[in-house]
This record gives sequence, C-alpha cells and structure tokens, in this order.
Amino acid sequence: MGFELEKKIGLEAVTKAARACAGISGEPRFREALYKTDGSPVTLADFFVQALINEELSAAFPEIPIVAEETSFCLEGSCGKKLRENLEELLPEKSPDEILCAINRGNHKGGGHGRFWTLDPIDGTRGLLAKRQYAIALALIEEGEVVLGILGCPELGPDTSNGAGGEKGFIFFAEKGRGSYQFGLWGNTRTRISVSGVEKVSDSIMCESVEAPDSSYEFSGKIAHSLNISAKSVRMDSQCKYAVLARGDTSIYLRPQPRKDYKENIWDHAAGYIIVKEAGGTVTDSSGKFLDFSVGKKLLENKGILATNGVIHEAVLQAVRKTVFQ
Ligand code: AMP
Ligand code: MG
Repeated sequence: MGFELEKKIGLEAVTKAARACAGISGEPRFREALYKTDGSPVTLADFFVQALINEELSAAFPEIPIVAEETSFCLEGSCGKKLRENLEELLPEKSPDEILCAINRGNHKGGGHGRFWTLDPIDGTRGLLAKRQYAIALALIEEGEVVLGILGCPELGPDTSNGAGGEKGFIFFAEKGRGSYQFGLWGNTRTRISVSGVEKVSDSIMCESVEAPDSSYEFSGKIAHSLNISAKSVRMDSQCKYAVLARGDTSIYLRPQPRKDYKENIWDHAAGYIIVKEAGGTVTDSSGKFLDFSVGKKLLENKGILATNGVIHEAVLQAVRKTVFQ
C-alpha cells in the first residue's frame, strides 16, 4: 500500500513551513533563543513550525499521533512571554490556547506499534542561529519502520560539494520502495535523485556536523586518513547532511556517538534515513547495526550513525571498527 495522501499533506505542510522560514528567518526576532534544560537552543522558528505542521497533520489525520521535538514548556512563564507574543503575531488566526495545544500535540511516545509521525520542526537550530544550514524534518513510521520522509532545506544550494551558487532552497522526499526525489522550494519540478557512484573509498567526500565535540573531529580525521581520503570534509548542520549524501554531493556521513550515554533522537534521523536508503545508499549505526526506530523517542539500541552511498559502506565500517574513539 502506498502513502499518497500522507505524502501529499506532508509535502504541503513542510513546503509551506520552509517557504515561511525562508521569508522570515532573517528577522532579528528569529535570532533570539531560549535555552532548554539540556543546554540546546530553541527559537521562535521551532515553535512556529511545530504549531503549523502539527495543525495541518492533525486536521488531515486526526488518528495519527505525532512525536515532535518541542513542548510548550519554554513558552510558559515570564521568560517565554516575548516568544509567545511573537508566535501569536505569526499565527493570528489562532487563539493563544490553540497555539499551545497545537505544539503539545507532538507528545506521543513512539514505539513499534501502529503509525505515528515524527517531526523536528527546526533540525539544526544552532545552524539557523548562525545563518548556516537547518532542516524541517518530517517522517511517518509504521510498525517501527520508516515509510515516508520529507526534508525541507531552505538554505541549501544545488551542489554543496563544489560550493557553486544557484537558487537556495530544496525539498527532498522518499516513500518506501518508490525512490527519492528533490525539488526547488520555489518551483515544483521533481527530480529523482541517487547517491554518488564513487567506488573507491579514497575518492569519497565525507560530511559531518558543524557543532561536534573535538573528539568527533579527531575521530573522523583518523578515519579519513586511514582510508586515504584527500578531499576536505564538508561540515554542515542538520539532516541536510543526509540530503546531500542522497543526491550524490558527498558519499559518507559519519556521526560518532559523542558520549557513551548519548542516544540519538528519532526525529533527528528518520526522514534523512529513508531519503538516503531510497536513493540507493546504506544507513546503519557506527557498528554496522540497522537503525531501530521501534523503541521509543530515541534510537536506544544504536550508537552513532554511518550513512554512505552503499558501495563503500563496508570499507568505512571496517575503518570505524579499527579506530579507537576517545
Ligand atoms: P547536527 O546539526 O547534525 O550537529 O545535529 C543537531 C542535533 O543533534 C540537534 O538537533 C540535537 O537533537 C542533537 N544533539 C544535541 N546534543 C547533541 C550531542 N551532544 N551530540 C550529538 N547530537 C546532539
Ligand atoms: Mg530541533
């Protein structure tokens, strides 16, 4: 069975949110952040996109729950007052209570049964704050398996590996068994995408986070060295890393587990995971294990992430296994 309606509504919601963000993210109020209890920033854009997309999804699919990153917690009390007022101005057709209610619709716990959406309204909030890359990431999970993924990347250019210019803004999507596609944020010509055909691992281009601990850079440096990779790594925020791998700009995305107790969030990977898989790539954790999206909000059974064009996956895995990470 396909997911035509889910894909249509999901694409409309992500495109609407990505266009809105592209139009307003330069405003100073989008650069004001509050900090969550884990120290990560959250902005007007995170709440605006979560309210908007949750609302569209629940109107079309009231029975499908949503696991989304944000809650209204930071908006409560005096420190959230300014953000609340800005949100009310951006969503004038909603009452203050309706806005909070829309945000809190993303409170599902995930798991291996039934269907649910998972949403990261702004993946790479630090990237948005620094005027780098960020993504709006939406995926549908059914019986623990990712079946649909959509990434809205308002700041992404047409080819990241050579830094060429061109109009910014792309949407990527993939449905299980039906391939991966991209289209320009301001157009609608859909192009099928596929991973790079690089066969020699030494010819590959690696991609990694911008905001990673020094130990992660040391580790990826050692891997690149052991594989004789001479190209400079592309550093990029958010699931845009999966998008550029899926369309062949890069061929490796390595994300070491930053600390023993750190577990990745499902919304930070689900959409990118299926977009790379359907473009012909391979995605596992950094030990080669399949990613298990069926165990709740986090990838509790996995450590780190390795995504490649598939052909070179085993070679990179071997290098990762041999290299000590500290
Ligand atoms: P990226 O832009 O790929 O570096 O990933 C940013 C995402 O990683 C954020 O949205 C967080 O959910 C998640 N994250 C937060 N803290 C950490 C951490 N210490 N190590 C790895 N990922 C983190
Ligand atoms: Mg986020």
